[in-house]
Amino acid sequence: MRDAEPSLRERGALLRAALENLVGETPLRFMEVCGTHTMALYRTGLRALLPWKLELVSGPGCPVCVTPQEDLDQAIALASRPEVTLATFGDLVRVPGSVGSLAQARAGGADVRVVTGASEALDLARHLPQRRVVFLAVGFETTAPGTAAVLEEARGEDVPNFLVLNLHKTVPPALEALAAAPDIALDGFLLPGHVCSVLGVEPFRFLPQAHGLACCAAGFEAEDLLLALVDLARQARKGHPEVTSAYPRGVRPGGNPRARALLERVFRPCDASWRGLGVLPRSGLALRDPFRRFDARESLELPLPAPAPPNGCRCGDVLAGRLAPRGCPLFGGTCTPRTPQGPCMVSSEGSCAAAYRYGGKE
Ligand code: SF4
Repeated sequence: MRDAEPSLRERGALLRAALENLVGETPLRFMEVCGTHTMALYRTGLRALLPWKLELVSGPGCPVCVTPQEDLDQAIALASRPEVTLATFGDLVRVPGSVGSLAQARAGGADVRVVTGASEALDLARHLPQRRVVFLAVGFETTAPGTAAVLEEARGEDVPNFLVLNLHKTVPPALEALAAAPDIALDGFLLPGHVCSVLGVEPFRFLPQAHGLACCAAGFEAEDLLLALVDLARQARKGHPEVTSAYPRGVRPGGNPRARALLERVFRPCDASWRGLGVLPRSGLALRDPFRRFDARESLELPLPAPAPPNGCRCGDVLAGRLAPRGCPLFGGTCTPRTPQGPCMVSSEGSCAAAYRYGGKE
């Protein structure tokens, strides 16, 4: 007679015991890159159950959070132009800029619309031919293909009043910057499952090879996360870092060729500015020549974003793994989800919002 399969609870207990065993008494420090992972680790209660010697720090995987203040200020200024309708995601509307937010600009008369993606913004442009409809595009390799597909559609239809304020970014250069930073000591990265489902894990091989860091792509259930953490701890303890995937149902070798081809057709790499990390070479996605007429910065001749004054928010340090959310002096006092002082407290993937909502061990 065959033994019964272990239940989910039993598998979780076994994985947790394996992790405890691997971590032992010597500290390990991993970064979860993806904002959805950050939320899942808090929401499932997993963070509170991790071995004490295992430290998990959040990274720059929340696209709203890594959008620098000066880009946000530019979007707010753009939304205030009388001929412009600015369409973007709900989280971005509440993020404070140097002077107010997009929500406050809207209260003052600016035409700011919340959309679920680029496709809805293009529809707006079709329905408002007398307006210049600008889609404020943020996101990594997961959302950029959606913008790319819509840009191909807009080009095919020759929609004259659709523009994109393009703030898309790519994840590998950000991890390279973190891996090279002398003050951010990590043993490995929990790789973002959604990004790896587009890119595959191959673009992350430089992390073990050049920086000796363990890497494992993870899914979003508690068991997926535990499996990936066990694998990271195994790699670190064996002293044999590599790139693995504990999310085979989401991450295929080579990723998603269609999405990658779409990215390649519409975008080319460019330098981009990140909150907390500064300007990183080839970490942005500029529009290729056939799509440049949709570039809001070029078409509307926007000036270069001016540096934003500091406001006491420490999101930059939180995003680089230099500070836990509760280490920010404003956390829970001046800064709460109702009175956010920075994007990490606004975004549904922000680590300050997660720490505030779920509390517990950081
Ligand atoms: Fe910024 Fe608020 Fe987080 Fe502090 S607690 S880093 S002010 S979002």
